[in-house]
Amino acid sequence: MATRAVRGYRTISRDAACLLAGSVPWDLDARALADVYWRSAEVRAGGSNPLPDAVRRWRDEARDRALELWEERLLEPRVSVDLIGAIRPVFREWVDRKKGALSFRLTQVLTGHGCFGRYLCEIVGREETTRCHHCDDERDTAAHTLTACPSWTRQRAALTAAIGPDLSLPALVSAMLSSEQNWRDVEKFAEEVISNKEEAERDRERRALDPLRRRRPRRRVIRNDNLPP
Ligand SMILES: [Zn+2]
Repeated sequence: MATRAVRGYRTISRDAACLLAGSVPWDLDARALADVYWRSAEVRAGGSNPLPDAVRRWRDEARDRALELWEERLLEPRVSVDLIGAIRPVFREWVDRKKGALSFRLTQVLTGHGCFGRYLCEIVGREETTRCHHCDDERDTAAHTLTACPSWTRQRAALTAAIGPDLSLPALVSAMLSSEQNWRDVEKFAEEVISNKEEAERDRERRALDPLRRRRPRRRVIRNDNLPP
């Protein structure tokens, strides 16, 4: 499954998961396989065996057609709009890339599905508000984490020194594709920042579960007779 291949959260849309993994959606893949099968069957029906070169060419053509259809389908995304919009301009390059693995934390930064207030509140209902636990912002998203949250200034400075000042999703995707070093730099940011956010989330969960810490502090009683006259 593409969702597992990109180590992402299950809530990522199927199209986005396939796109991140660079694997053609199963329906289009099946169609491409069927196309090659029927072309081979046609040659066999004529009494000969298809030549390996011809089969290879049919496979390439079928994959090309599948990618075209997939690209068309991504023109009107209904979910994961930002991510799909960021990858679409470099679609072929992204899908055909030979390197560039997606870690769990890098996937969180690219999809916004992960340790972010907005996701934890609005999508999985694990938190009551969308606020950022690392600053005063009321909406913690991947973009907030990448571009604004003051808690990650050091990591952000390292990243912009490496890939330039634009940390929007399209710029990030294009930087990642342009060199292996850039890919690693973005991944480093994701690993450092998201692991911090995960640790903070675990702390919040521990505090919420711990009955001793949950108990309200006793109010101090001020006794009038102790007050100076
Ligand atoms: Zn913040």
